[in-house]
Amino acid sequence: MYIPEKFIIAVDGYSSCVKSTLAKGLAKELGFIYIDTGAMYRAVTLFALDNDVFGADDQINENLLRSMIDDIKIEFKINAEQRDTILNGEIVSGKIRSPQVSNRVSLISKLKFVRKRLVALQREMGDAGRVILDGRDIGTVVFPKADLKIFMTASIEVRTNRRWKEMKLKYPNVTFDEVKENLTERDRMDTTRKESPLKRAEDAKLIDNSELDRKQQLQVAIDLVEKTTEI
Ligand code: C5P
Repeated sequence: MYIPEKFIIAVDGYSSCVKSTLAKGLAKELGFIYIDTGAMYRAVTLFALDNDVFGADDQINENLLRSMIDDIKIEFKINAEQRDTILNGEIVSGKIRSPQVSNRVSLISKLKFVRKRLVALQREMGDAGRVILDGRDIGTVVFPKADLKIFMTASIEVRTNRRWKEMKLKYPNVTFDEVKENLTERDRMDTTRKESPLKRAEDAKLIDNSELDRKQQLQVAIDLVEKTTEI
């Protein structure tokens, strides 16, 4: 298959739709750079937690965060097959997946000045050539002219089970209901927020992977790339 030197694939969808698994798989298969934009919002949330931006009842001190936003440096590095998220020089790949961060990230991602900063960074990263990004607003806001847009969905039960299995390895006490509540609440906040709400772009191709395994969904996506690049 011939893929132009500049080609952007946008993958959006609900929480725990295994968007990143698909995006990573596609990147590996096709030699694309992969950018996990959710990790960027998580890194800002971790920064906010470490710098006392959250007060009682998770009230956010927006002015404090705004005053520090330009001090937040986020990078991705590949270390022996593993992709790491680096926040101001520190590897935070594990910390950004903690329940403390997961439960607060949607509070941070709805802030306009945070989105403005991260979207600018994502556009810069996307300039690299053949790039695949996954998130919530890639096809609608970050790259509305992406060459291929994919929107992923799956039933809430399937999504909860997937995330629960993953979480239990590190947090054995976490329950199915807690994970379900976190996903449901994040989806609610992500779809109803004022700034860049999660929604399917009109020209995005839908993949419902409730009944697809990793290999099958990767093949569906490869077929979509092939169709898009067909002359
Ligand atoms: O993809 P992931 O579940 O890691 O994303 C964490 C959170 O980051 C989402 O629930 C959403 O609030 C926010 N996010 C966003 N826009 C993106 C990517 C993630 O608002 N492009």
